[in-house]
Amino acid sequence: MSIISHHARAAADEIKTVFDFFSSYRADAADGQGVADLTFGNPHEMPLPGLVAALKTHSEPQRTDWFAYKTSEEDARGVLARALSQELGLGFVPEDVAMTTGAFGAIALAFAMLLDPGDECIIPVPGWFCYGTVLRNGNAVPVKVPLAEDTFDLDLAAIERAITPRTRIVVVNTPHNPTGIIYSRERLAELAALLTAKSAEIGRPIFILSDEPYRRIRFDGAGFTSPAELYPWTLIDYSYGKVLLAPGLRIGYLAIGPLMPEEAKAELRALATSTQVAQGWTFPDAPLQYAVADLEALSIDIPALQAKRDRMHGALEQWGYRMTRPAGTFYLWGRAPGGDAVAFTRRLAERGVYVMPGTLFERPADFRISLTGSAEMIEASLPAFEAAKGNARA
Ligand code: PLP
Repeated sequence: MSIISHHARAAADEIKTVFDFFSSYRADAADGQGVADLTFGNPHEMPLPGLVAALKTHSEPQRTDWFAYKTSEEDARGVLARALSQELGLGFVPEDVAMTTGAFGAIALAFAMLLDPGDECIIPVPGWFCYGTVLRNGNAVPVKVPLAEDTFDLDLAAIERAITPRTRIVVVNTPHNPTGIIYSRERLAELAALLTAKSAEIGRPIFILSDEPYRRIRFDGAGFTSPAELYPWTLIDYSYGKVLLAPGLRIGYLAIGPLMPEEAKAELRALATSTQVAQGWTFPDAPLQYAVADLEALSIDIPALQAKRDRMHGALEQWGYRMTRPAGTFYLWGRAPGGDAVAFTRRLAERGVYVMPGTLFERPADFRISLTGSAEMIEASLPAFEAAKGNARA
């Protein structure tokens, strides 16, 4: 007999591959003379000076209640309602925005508000490897639906086949981790039409959870459409962890799509704060909430990131690697030479370069590079990619 909750166990099982990888690669990295750690989207250079200044400013108490209990701060919600309205061309009001501990917190909040035990949530494969574990922890069911082979676009026929009367949410992640794809307005409009028809068929709305933490990390002037512009039953989650490259500072939000019927909005607004209390007070720390207006004005250097993408993508393609050219995010996704990602990533690790095998994304023939390494790290890693490629076209 197990002494622990069966869904906590199921959540742990869901993320086991990632944890196993994490410990093995750390052991490896500690062992050798690491050249470049290009695994997780972590910073490898000093933080943005503007970010440090904002943290210092807003950590300095100005009133006795500076560090009092905080839920979603009204000022932060106001700043975000204005910023989101401008960015997406929709009318958000402050009550539509719940302040959360990053996108993680926002995703967990959305799942907790919308899902009963046994309800189903469609998630993309490949895709971020934590949706499943958060779902399992809430006793809900992840339904993994592959993206279109090669293009990694949304496969609407596959989504349609996966929908059942228990489907409550479809997660759309754009720009997409790990492929860097940004979904077109046309494809998202088709998804909206499909979900409208299916919602009518099953007799209750299917939500889109639009997971947008990379929304502002786009290359070559690429545009962006949020599903919230096209589909009323949309919630948006966001994190500052990506655009500021500071994922250890836990702040983001969940926003209710303005096109949602008023009655549903009112229900969700009323539920958000109590759900976050029930989850263990998952509001961002007070200084981070005070800093939101400053954070909104900051970004990592996107042209420099684009230059790293071009350098790495160009070199790998030249050596015969089959890579997806990302339109956004800070990842580069491709086919492991020889089709065995674990063997390939080992060959790289032997040369001190660490990347993620596609096994973590349920794509054992693929791999992901994080471009958050410095330009020097990217440059220093290239000989290892050339040496490890074998016959890359195989
Ligand atoms: N969604 C996606 C697609 C991600 O890649 C990540 C982080 O890697 C998250 C959500 C969670 O973001 P955060 O850790 O900033 O909350």
